[in-house]
Amino acid sequence: MNKAITPDLPVAIIGAGPVGLAAAAHLIVRGIEPLILERGTSVGATLLEWAHVRVFSPWSFNIDKAARSLLEKAGWSAPDAAGLPTGGELVGDYLSPLAALPSVAPHLRLGAEVTAITREGLDKISSTGRERAAFIVRYLDRDGSVHQARARAVIDASGTWTRPNPIGVDGLPVKGEPQAAGYIAYGIPDVLHAERETYAGKRVLVVGGGHSAINAALALLSLQEAAPGTKVFWALRRNRIDRLLGGGLNDQLPERGALGLAAKKAIDEGRLEMLAPFSVEQVEQKEAYLRVAARLDGEPHALDVDRIIVATGFRPDLSFLGELRVSLDPVVEAPPALAPLIDPNFHSCGTVPPHGIAELVHPEPGFTIVGSKSYGRAPTFLMATGYEQVRSVVAELAGDAKAAREVQLVLPETGVCSADYPTGAGADSARSGCCGGPASETVDACCVADAAAKTAGLGGCGCGSASRSAEKQTVQSKALETTE
Ligand SMILES: Cc1cc2nc3c(=O)[nH]c(=O)nc-3n(C[C@H](O)[C@H](O)[C@H](O)COP(=O)(O)OP(=O)(O)OC[C@H]3O[C@@H](n4cnc5c(N)ncnc54)[C@H](O)[C@@H]3O)c2cc1C
Repeated sequence: MNKAITPDLPVAIIGAGPVGLAAAAHLIVRGIEPLILERGTSVGATLLEWAHVRVFSPWSFNIDKAARSLLEKAGWSAPDAAGLPTGGELVGDYLSPLAALPSVAPHLRLGAEVTAITREGLDKISSTGRERAAFIVRYLDRDGSVHQARARAVIDASGTWTRPNPIGVDGLPVKGEPQAAGYIAYGIPDVLHAERETYAGKRVLVVGGGHSAINAALALLSLQEAAPGTKVFWALRRNRIDRLLGGGLNDQLPERGALGLAAKKAIDEGRLEMLAPFSVEQVEQKEAYLRVAARLDGEPHALDVDRIIVATGFRPDLSFLGELRVSLDPVVEAPPALAPLIDPNFHSCGTVPPHGIAELVHPEPGFTIVGSKSYGRAPTFLMATGYEQVRSVVAELAGDAKAAREVQLVLPETGVCSADYPTGAGADSARSGCCGGPASETVDACCVADAAAKTAGLGGCGCGSASRSAEKQTVQSKALETTE
């Protein structure tokens, strides 16, 4: 068999999330065949896991251009550009119709979990003829049978959702965490609807200080109104409670400001107990509850709860990339040129400048990681940025080096999160996004500390913070300390 790459080979895409499907759309528009391998039983499988959560960026930023052109040719009408969809609506109103198009559907394999990628006849250490060798993508189908596909290039858009961070502040599961898995949810369970019975009237510990934790804590407080026996403990691993509730932070990030107000009210009424800084050391499963051994502000602390929600971020699954020459930043686990732009040690929020193949390249020719996985452990990924990534990556694969190096995404001065936000019920959760609601002069919602980081030569942000006053930069640096 000819082991070399030939033009008839497809480009393999791992994952049919918004970015993987956008990559497929760009390939189709350029006349290149995609092969989309998706482990779930539906496209947008991870979005369906948080189907109940409303995103903070409007439809206009959530639809890829190539995908839109394919859909509109087939008579599809885009949802209201200013509307904020839920994860479920993103799948139902956009990704599913896209996947069903006759130009896309034949190239999609659902229930196909990629387990390994290599170059045909060459292990990682073999260099001779490497860039001419086809890729071999090994995957399991729903029955557990092993399959292999040959590909001319591979775009890894598999996201990070399958690898949630554990409870431990050191990045490891705490003692007893695996054994107590039946009582622990990672991510954002639907406590108000699908999983209401599991949480109503229960003692629930939420661990984490980011947007997922904010969502979970707010939803539990809503549940408490209907089921007053629900007790909510909210643990921040590194932050201090005064910073969460304090004016400085609230001035910076409206969603946390809203949360601060809701949390303060709940604390005053005895409905919410904040624990910070709080590091869990052990989880012990008792009869039908969990005993948590922890340190609260450095002192030993014991707590009995019925459930734990862990919302401490995600990390990329690198397990199937072992035979490829992948270059990742040792801190962020993102491609080295991208990492300094998104390192959460310097950039607490917001987007990075639009970027493409130049920042995403690996030593393995023809292989790229895109989408949320390209951000490694950094939590600030936006779909719009991913769409620009795959436009550029596909242009490069098509031999259009000029288009690959152009920046075609223009982020608005006010940030991606500049939608007209709803008021009234649901407004808080709609705001609880990366940029924290509409950016304004006084509310530097995007890019907290990004300007300071930029000054330090660590890249800037695409949310329109090109010029910041020295005073603002000082406040931003303070807010950065509060990011968990
Ligand atoms: C609660 C929440 C709210 C968010 N809100 C916004 C927002 O408002 N605006 C915004 O721009 N972004 C938002 N994001 C961030 C980001 O845009 C989403 O996480 C988005 O889903 C990332 O798209 P993706 O295609 O990179 O990854 P995913 O959507 O995670 O898709 C990856 C796909 O790969 C599949 N997969 C994984 N491993 C394998 C494998 N080994 N083999 C085959 N398939 C595999 C998965 O099943 C999945 O379908 C939000 C994220 C979360 C969690």
